[in-house]
Amino acid sequence: MSDEKQFTIESYLEYIRNRKLMGSKCKDCGVTYVPVRKLCSECNSTKMEWVEMSGKGELAAFTSITVGTPYFVERGYDRKNPYCFSVIKLDEGPMISAQLVGVEESKPETIEIGTPLKVTFLESEVKGETKVDLGFEPA
Ligand SMILES: [Zn+2]
Repeated sequence: MSDEKQFTIESYLEYIRNRKLMGSKCKDCGVTYVPVRKLCSECNSTKMEWVEMSGKGELAAFTSITVGTPYFVERGYDRKNPYCFSVIKLDEGPMISAQLVGVEESKPETIEIGTPLKVTFLESEVKGETKVDLGFEPA
């Protein structure tokens, strides 16, 4: 993969399929964006570069979801088997949202804000196709 990839969500998702969490960093002011942006909202620069994230961060917010979207229902989540959707503050600064795994989803009171997390890539088979989704788990 080259660094010449466009700064689009499609490229970002392609990196995730290849198990890389990438962001774009503004060459002018140094702010990092995950998911990527073409235009820096701090200084309006379009001089971006791809940077690989450490994948480390901490739990900023989460919600346990019992009535999922069809995408999650297809993957076996329901009222009895909820999943956690979380917001993670990455060590590099950006906040991103992803599924939280490795926790007791049905006991949200056991999950603590500020828990150190690390990135993981969640594989699932949906209609015979392997999907890779971004996830986080306790570090
Ligand atoms: Zn900037």
